[in-house]
Amino acid sequence: MTRRRALICGLLLALCGLALTPYGCSDAINSNGNGNGPQPRPPQRPKLLPREGMAFRMDAAFEHVVALVSDGARTTGSPALHRARSYIIDELDSCGVQVDLDFFDANYPRGTRPGINIIATLPGARPEVLVIGAHYDTKDMPDFVGANDGATAPALLIELAYQLSLRSLPMTVKLVFFDAEEAEVGWDPPRDGLLGSTHLAELWRKTGELENVRALVLVDLIGDRDLNLKTELNSTGWLRRFFEQRADEMGYLGLFSDGETRVDDDHIPFLKRGVAAVDLIDFNYGPENRYWHSVEDNLTNVCKESVGIIGDLVLESIDPLAEKLLR
Ligand SMILES: [Zn+2]
Repeated sequence: MTRRRALICGLLLALCGLALTPYGCSDAINSNGNGNGPQPRPPQRPKLLPREGMAFRMDAAFEHVVALVSDGARTTGSPALHRARSYIIDELDSCGVQVDLDFFDANYPRGTRPGINIIATLPGARPEVLVIGAHYDTKDMPDFVGANDGATAPALLIELAYQLSLRSLPMTVKLVFFDAEEAEVGWDPPRDGLLGSTHLAELWRKTGELENVRALVLVDLIGDRDLNLKTELNSTGWLRRFFEQRADEMGYLGLFSDGETRVDDDHIPFLKRGVAAVDLIDFNYGPENRYWHSVEDNLTNVCKESVGIIGDLVLESIDPLAEKLLR
């Protein structure tokens, strides 16, 4: 899915001659300043636990993860993604939430496939819109199931739909399940990757809907057993800091303690069109990010507690965030 810009990596490789992975470079910079020599062990931090008594039901959310993963890889246009979509829509329907489908041509390098974004709308006291998004397609790889990359985040959104259906909302919330986030040949958005979010952002710009959108909160890769989010520097500064502060207030100290990075993800098409956006992402999945885009992205390597923590954070941030957005 997402990809960090590799500019600094190339520079470091040239300077140091190190066999750094493309996704370890800025961490190396953050940890000791030059990425050379043995890396110091990161300080041990206590494992974060979900708050007792929180409304967000992590067990229910994790059932959705298990259901989505059971069908294997869910590539754009595939029968498996069709079944995943039916599952998501059925769950949203059972919450009594309005569901709209956004059909588009996913023009991938090797051909066009049918793309479908799912949009669940929960009307609030005001018409201004807060979008909470996640992609639900997965990479197309043999034996890949995408437990974290394509299941934990949409599962979180399904549980959010249930929780929000029980509440009075200060502003309208749209839960968007993006299709065609993944690349087909090689990461090169919006030609190859971010096709669904690019389509929807442009559609909403044309229809004027984008003027109502006050912010986008994207969740991605949030089920890692060792949950530790990076500060994502493409995100809008004030919105990123809002979530960092909110995590501290809620007792999730050290949630954002894995250094800084830049990630191209489904928030980019909205940022480019002037929408404040943040990517809540733990882009360090397994040792040296080894589980990412591998068969090891499976149910063994994700856990309900991590989904619960991010679910709790997002759910209980909506009211204070709306207060800021509606000022
Ligand atoms: Zn991916």
